Amino acid sequence: MKIVLEDLSFSYRGGKKVFEHLDLVLPGRHIVAITGPNGSGKTTLLKLIAGILEPDSGKVIFDGVGSEFLRFGFVFQNPSEQFVHFTVEREVGFALENFGYDSDVIAIKVSEILKEFGLYSKRGSSPDELSGGEQQKLSIASSVVYEPKIFLMDEPTSYLDEPGKKLFFETVSSLRRRGYSILWVTQDPSELKLSDYVLLLEEGRVTFFENTKRFLKDGYDSI
Ligand code: ADP
Repeated sequence: MKIVLEDLSFSYRGGKKVFEHLDLVLPGRHIVAITGPNGSGKTTLLKLIAGILEPDSGKVIFDGVGSEFLRFGFVFQNPSEQFVHFTVEREVGFALENFGYDSDVIAIKVSEILKEFGLYSKRGSSPDELSGGEQQKLSIASSVVYEPKIFLMDEPTSYLDEPGKKLFFETVSSLRRRGYSILWVTQDPSELKLSDYVLLLEEGRVTFFENTKRFLKDGYDSI
């Protein structure tokens, strides 16, 4: 799903401008890595795209429609802060309850997803008992179950050890194969090679936006 940001401006209340007249077209069905220094606006960009923050002016359009018509998948730095239920199973079913699905349908969908993500044997466990990598998998599973169009990931590997990262990369690759659009904020240069495009943000401006091969060849020095 293509994302178009049109003449977007945003500042936090009482704060300085984060974006001023930003125009940007993000291709769908790819992984776009969003990188850049701290405070450059990466998280704010994700929140504007998700509709969590309202722009002061300008708009975000997804294949011609506004964010209110879309479901987003979210993956954050620290998944355990996101979990609100006592079991893995309830955690995955939660969003479906909110979307008003029948309990029979929820039970079937939850089982399917847990099996697909290799978490079925952990369905009765507390999310806190999972490893970091499994928690991020649960986080993704909890979104995939309601079939979002776009995944927004904000430094999802920050708290993962090496095996956790490996698990996470495999899961993200499988999402891409399935045609999801993924926006992935990362500050880790070694992760960029997993993306299709790299977008470099500096003080709210896009200073580089190219396919990843070209970025790794030409743009690497600028980060
Ligand atoms: P990044 O994700 O690249 O580190 P952010 O999007 O978090 O950058 O922040 C962009 C700018 O907005 C920074 O100057 C930051 O200090 C400011 N900022 C972020 N969140 C808030 C907030 N809730 N209130 C006021 N200013 C904020």
